[in-house]
Amino acid sequence: MVQIKELSSYLVHNNEKGPFDIIGDVHGCFDELKELLEQLGYKVAFREHHSKYTVTAPKGHKAVFVGDLVDRGPRSHEVLRLVMDMVEAGVAYCVSGNHDDKLYRKLIGRNVQIRHGLELTMEQLGHCHPDFVTRVRDFLGSLPHHILLDDGRLVIAHAGLAEHLHGRHNRTVRDLCLYGPTTGELDKLGLPVRLDWAANYTGHAIVVYGHTPVREPKWRNNTINIDTGCVFGGKLTSLMYPDHILTSVPAHKVYAESVRPFLQDNHSVSA
Ligand code: MN
Repeated sequence: MVQIKELSSYLVHNNEKGPFDIIGDVHGCFDELKELLEQLGYKVAFREHHSKYTVTAPKGHKAVFVGDLVDRGPRSHEVLRLVMDMVEAGVAYCVSGNHDDKLYRKLIGRNVQIRHGLELTMEQLGHCHPDFVTRVRDFLGSLPHHILLDDGRLVIAHAGLAEHLHGRHNRTVRDLCLYGPTTGELDKLGLPVRLDWAANYTGHAIVVYGHTPVREPKWRNNTINIDTGCVFGGKLTSLMYPDHILTSVPAHKVYAESVRPFLQDNHSVSA
């Protein structure tokens, strides 16, 4: 019997200096992810016989995923396979996103609403071997809510994180990492009103995050949102650290419609 963690107790914190290729919300866009990795110089090989990816990074590089690997896109299961193989081989880190967390709760038998693209992920996982689904469950349950690299100079959290919470671990910190701060109110579309934490950020650490799609990544107070809405027909973006080089591949198509039209607006949009 696998022990189910109520609260992910993992927080990665180390002095690795990179280079890191930090990758925004993938949401099942496998083809674009593979393309982006190859554009960044990663060699991605698939061994059919073992159903396993072997990924070779450019010298000294590691990939870091900001979370939301799954939902809405066409091949969430294959994104999971690739990212799990990369993380297990030590070629990548990954933090949990709100969609990954919701899938995890579904897989451990919680009563979650099957919508916002989770219905597609469940359908895709339905075609996979039960052992694979178990592996996915354990992987998602093991993901950290945020990662500090380069001795805390680089912070990765799905929805970002205010400076005084860097390196802290409790349920509040975890929820902020996954969902971001909200006012507790709903807007006219019925979506939670979000607080713009990055506008008040004064920290020295660079915070890289995703969660709310933007048309273009933009630096604000040492923070940068690299979720450029690939699944909504935008693009998949990576940021190289410490060189701050942005690389993007365009979405092959519009896989899902965004409730808030992010392509027209760079602020206050919803994932
Ligand atoms: Mn997202």
